[in-house]
Amino acid sequence: MSESKDYYSTLGVEKNANADEIKKAYRKLAMQYHPDRNPDNKEAEQKFKTISEAYAVLSDPEKRQKYDTYGSAAFDGNGGGFNAGDFDFGDLGDIFSNFFGGGFSSSRGRKRNSARPGNDLRHNLTITLEEAAVGVEKEITYNRTEVCSTCNGTGGKPGTKENTCTKCNGTGEIKEIARSMFGQFVNINTCSSCNGKGKVPETKCNKCSGSGLHKVKVTKKVKIPAGIDSEQRLRIPGFGEAGENGGGYGDLYIFVYVSQHDIFERHDNDIVCEIPISFATAALGGDIKVPTIDGETKIKIPTGTQTGKIFRLKDMGIPNVRGYGKGDQLVKIVIEVPTNLSSKQKEILKTFDETLKEDNNSIMQKFSNNWSNFKEKIKK
Ligand SMILES: [Zn+2]
Ligand SMILES: [Zn+2]
Repeated sequence: MSESKDYYSTLGVEKNANADEIKKAYRKLAMQYHPDRNPDNKEAEQKFKTISEAYAVLSDPEKRQKYDTYGSAAFDGNGGGFNAGDFDFGDLGDIFSNFFGGGFSSSRGRKRNSARPGNDLRHNLTITLEEAAVGVEKEITYNRTEVCSTCNGTGGKPGTKENTCTKCNGTGEIKEIARSMFGQFVNINTCSSCNGKGKVPETKCNKCSGSGLHKVKVTKKVKIPAGIDSEQRLRIPGFGEAGENGGGYGDLYIFVYVSQHDIFERHDNDIVCEIPISFATAALGGDIKVPTIDGETKIKIPTGTQTGKIFRLKDMGIPNVRGYGKGDQLVKIVIEVPTNLSSKQKEILKTFDETLKEDNNSIMQKFSNNWSNFKEKIKK
């Protein structure tokens, strides 16, 4: 554990200072020690880090309260989840730009000539439920920037001489004086002419017009694992866009969508389907054919099956995308009520219905008894 730091004395404020006083104190010190005002001054840089760390804690009511209770140890990784020692200039730039409208932040953090990794790319891919169930290999086509194959990213015609950039005199940076209510500041930006390299080729590469990068249509085979579901994505490292100055390629993300199926509904790794059967089959029982994701199977309907009854077909669902286990298929029975009956059929049904009234075990009879009891109760 590091020794405790006194953030209040760092900023030169009282322990009961209000937010305004803390902000004012930080602003004054930050103006004095900001690296842009003290180029190549390690001491000032260190001081600036220290005061910014103190400000980051004291300007946040929640962090300040934690600090008041536990001291700076609360931010050393054991107690806080916020590590004040982890500051870099990127963070400081953000804090600072809150005051100065971003005037400072652009110059630091990005060194000239620095390699910048390429952007990630997103590709949407729709597959069927059948494909999701067993996995599939798909060929996708997309556009990305690649390092120019003619100049290898240098931007120069092969064999050409490299000259010092005249815009930045080989420094790779362009300095601009910015004025604000606090005085004059120097903004340091990457030279757009040489892209921070400090050198420009005498003759530009024909293929990429000197940028070192070119747009390419890429065709790639992608393996989609069995069990994948909508909203899941695959990361393919190195298949995004090319970076600048040799910064390497970004990644390609495949966003997968599984389209709706006519018969099956997916519930996590289970597959649900409704199977209509006739009233006679439900009453008498029998074998029926049931569609599954990879073909057809038979199930036995017991006599007296009611509508809504669910049969579970073990391990007939979708495999787990991580490679272990499988879901089930749930078959929900729906009993179809016949329509458009002929007069003969109607006669048969009426006769049949008469016989039901003698059955004391029928669901309708039980319900009718319960209903009578209920009516008796509410009368009292
Ligand atoms: Zn080129
Ligand atoms: Zn330049």
